[in-house]
Amino acid sequence: MKIKVDFDLCESNALCEAMAPEVFELDDDDFLVLKAEETTDANVESVKRAVAACPRAAISLED
Ligand code: SF4
Repeated sequence: MKIKVDFDLCESNALCEAMAPEVFELDDDDFLVLKAEETTDANVESVKRAVAACPRAAISLED
């Protein structure tokens, strides 16, 4: 699935990074960096947990 982030909604609280650090990372300036554009079989469950954890509903998945 394709991973989308609405950076205007993101408040850089790193909850997604805690759930799926292989995909989400805050840089030195606290801006969220998306390290992958698509989920893999290995990370899809953790990415879904990141989507659920985001209090701003900034992350979405598309088929
Ligand atoms: S959990 Fe949501 S608000 Fe927090 S850093 Fe990730 S995308 Fe941004």
